[in-house]
Amino acid sequence: MIIDCHGHYTTAPKPLEEWRNRQIAGIRDPKAKPRVSELEISDDELRSSIEENQLRLMRERGCDLTIFSPRASFMAHHIGDFSVSATWAAICNELCHRVSQLFPENFIGAAMLPQSPGVDPKTCIPELEKCVKEYGFVAINLNPDPSGGFWKSPPLTDRHWYPLYEKMVELDIPAMIHVSTSCNACFHTTGAHYINADTTAVMQLIEGDLFKDFPRLRFIVPHGGGAAPYHWGRYRGLAQALKKPLLREHLLKNVFFDTCVYHQPGIDLLTKVIPVDNILFASEMVGAVRGIDPETGHQYDDTKRYIEAALNLSAEDRHKIYEENARRVYPRLDARLRERRR
Ligand SMILES: [Zn+2]
Repeated sequence: MIIDCHGHYTTAPKPLEEWRNRQIAGIRDPKAKPRVSELEISDDELRSSIEENQLRLMRERGCDLTIFSPRASFMAHHIGDFSVSATWAAICNELCHRVSQLFPENFIGAAMLPQSPGVDPKTCIPELEKCVKEYGFVAINLNPDPSGGFWKSPPLTDRHWYPLYEKMVELDIPAMIHVSTSCNACFHTTGAHYINADTTAVMQLIEGDLFKDFPRLRFIVPHGGGAAPYHWGRYRGLAQALKKPLLREHLLKNVFFDTCVYHQPGIDLLTKVIPVDNILFASEMVGAVRGIDPETGHQYDDTKRYIEAALNLSAEDRHKIYEENARRVYPRLDARLRERRR
C-alpha cells in the first residue's frame, strides 16, 4: 500500500470560502455573521471536488490512501476569537469527515484544531475527541504559532501544551506540526513560514526534554523537516553542546519527517541523513506548489517519483516509507486498515 500522510482539502467547493468570508465580516459586524446551517455543500459537489483533483492524481501516481485534513493555510487561527475558530474548525473537519465517508478506501481524516492566540490549548480537546471518536480521524494538525507568524505561544516543550499531549497519548494519535497563513509580511506562508516552523519545532524539541515526560508522543514534522535534515550536523552539534543525548535517542523515537520535498536532490539528502524508519511518504497534494518542473517535465509535488528514483533506498526501505512507518506512527490508521483486511 502507498499511504500519503499529508493531504489537505485545498479544493473544497467555493461555498466554503464564501461562508468563511462572511464569518470574518461578522467579527466586525455581528449582523453579517452567517449561521452554520447557511453553508450547504452537497455530496455531489464534494465528490467532484475530490474526483477531479486529489483522487485523479492519486490514481495517476499510484497512491492508495491519503491522511486528509482541512486546508492548512485556511485554518488562520489568528482570525477572531476562540468561538470563531471553534465554528470554523468544526465545519472544516466535518467536510473532511464527509470526504472520508464518500471515499472510505482513499481518505482518512486528520483534525484541524480550534486554536486561538492566547487561548489555553485544552479548549481544543472537545473538537479533537469528536474527530477521533465520532469521525474516526487518526491524527491532528497542531499549529505551534496560532498568531500567524508572530510566534506568541510558548515553545512546544512548554507545559502550556501538555493537556493536548495528554489527550494525544490517551487516544494514541500523532500530531503533524503545521502552521497556517502568515500574516507577517516578512514571511511568505508556504515558502518561509511553513519551513521556518518545521525547523523551529525541531530545535524546540532538541532544547527541551518533552519526550521524557511523554515517551509515547509522536510528531510528524512536515515539508521534509524544514531545514533540519539539511543542517543535521548543526543540530547534532547543538544537542551535544546542550548536553542532550544523541538525536537518535533524544528525538528520533518520537519525531518523523515527511517527504514533501519537491526535487530529487532534496529527497536524496533526506533519505541519506534521516533513518528510513523516521520517514513517511507524503506529497501535500493538491497544495502549495502546483506547477510542472521544467527540468523533469513532472509536477513538483509528484513525490513518489523521487522515492522511486532514490538510489540509496532498497525495496524494503521504500515499503517502510510508503506504508510500514505510517502504520506504526498512526496506530488508529493501522487498526482501521486491519479491520478492512488491508
Ligand atoms: Zn500541509
